[in-house]
Amino acid sequence: MPELPEVETSRRGIEPYLVGHQIVHAVVRNSRLRWPVSEEIMALSDQVVLSVQRRAKYLLIELKTGWIIIHLGMSGSLRVLQHETEPAKHDHVDLVMDTGYVLRYTDPRRFGAWLWCADLAASNVLSHLGPEPLSDDFSAEYLMEKSRNKKSPIKPWLMDNKLVVGVGNIYASESLFVAGILPDRPANSLSSEEYQLLTKTIKAVLLRSIEQGGTTLRDFLQSDGKPGYFAQELQVYGRAGEPCRACGTLIESSKHAQRSTFFCRSCQR
Ligand SMILES: [Zn+2]
Repeated sequence: MPELPEVETSRRGIEPYLVGHQIVHAVVRNSRLRWPVSEEIMALSDQVVLSVQRRAKYLLIELKTGWIIIHLGMSGSLRVLQHETEPAKHDHVDLVMDTGYVLRYTDPRRFGAWLWCADLAASNVLSHLGPEPLSDDFSAEYLMEKSRNKKSPIKPWLMDNKLVVGVGNIYASESLFVAGILPDRPANSLSSEEYQLLTKTIKAVLLRSIEQGGTTLRDFLQSDGKPGYFAQELQVYGRAGEPCRACGTLIESSKHAQRSTFFCRSCQR
């Protein structure tokens, strides 16, 4: 599943091919995504792209009359291709640019979304989202304050989009390992020092992944092949029963809110 770093890498990859250029029209081959592709997108014609932004895992393409909101869902990806490139089975949406390129959306499972929004501030998909993890609003002080009455385990709490966006299962597991904090610790049991370390770690882990993605997906202009999601060097995620890379203790797994969690009982307290 594309996580925040993949979405940010996608944003950086497509941005130079869109901003300042004109969308001639959209081609929607299959509008049945998670929600139907908005009619306004199907009816687009001759609109200049003003910016390509990201909020949580949503890509936001700014036009003069409104915004295209894209979510990659479980299996969505974006590529920039030469206009004449034949579409394949799961290529559901194209934005045809005046440059001879198309932005092509591929999504085998069709859990993604292409929605139109005239006013971003009034968008119901974006309201209720917590701060961006890489912003200054996401700080130890913020987590301390929010956690004071929270007895729930730290890991599922961190994954709640209302608290902070984009800390998915992999990043929550990996960050808690690096910060040396057991995932089932009650959120209100962490000290200010632990929250300092945890917020620093989450930012570092996400940034490293975005940088890796930048090298993995550097060439967004691809004539064939599918962009793969990042092959990551993981410390604990998906490694139950394997030795911890730091101390050799076997990595354990448990479940929080139906999501698998991985940790080292010796390195994390
Ligand atoms: Zn260990």
